[in-house]
Amino acid sequence: MGKEKKGTMFVLSSPSGAGKTTLTKKLAENNNNFVISISHTTRKPRSNEINGKDYHFVSEEKFKDLIKEKNFFEYAGIFGNHYGTLKRPVIEFLTQGKDVLFDIDWQGTQQLKKVKDLSIVTIFILPPDIKVLKERLLNRHKGEEKLIVERMNKFNEEVSHWSEYNYVVVNDNLNICYEKILDIITLEKKGIRKKQNLDEIRKKITQLTVN
Ligand code: 5GP
Repeated sequence: MGKEKKGTMFVLSSPSGAGKTTLTKKLAENNNNFVISISHTTRKPRSNEINGKDYHFVSEEKFKDLIKEKNFFEYAGIFGNHYGTLKRPVIEFLTQGKDVLFDIDWQGTQQLKKVKDLSIVTIFILPPDIKVLKERLLNRHKGEEKLIVERMNKFNEEVSHWSEYNYVVVNDNLNICYEKILDIITLEKKGIRKKQNLDEIRKKITQLTVN
């Protein structure tokens, strides 16, 4: 497949509002070997978002063209919008030896895992409890009740994909969660995969999805 890809892809997925975007940014800020993969999306920008930095905001037509031209590594329909990762920038970064961070959902993760010749580590982030998740969503989408209900309803479905990931980390506290992820990444770069306590994870998932 041409040039060797030296970097690793680190995927962070989570139900909306579990704090993953903040974590991805913190990881990239503090580690200069990381770059964040900037997705394309057809959703409208939020007031604090910058085109080309948070996302490449594009029209449905443009997105469909990119699909047709087979430019995406992966793409998915989420909450009525499209989201996708372009192949070219990712391949370039990996070839340069950079590690690439992805903030994508379980559908995209499933697709990336199928790509050959790539080194990929997948991490699923859980919110500490359902109340905290709702508070985060209320904060982010003030006045958008319908959207909040929609995202809460999606929660159980998203969480059901936890076992497809190499790691599950609970975001009780941003700094601790960050350190745990950094620890995973550092060990993975040395070729070490830490064992997870699956019983503990199952217990947490049951707690979160009971209602
Ligand atoms: P938001 O609209 O809140 O920024 O993101 C909604 C969901 O889309 C999040 O779960 C986020 O991880 C996911 N997402 C963002 N970019 C991509 C992408 O390129 N591909 C996929 N499959 N999911 C994405």
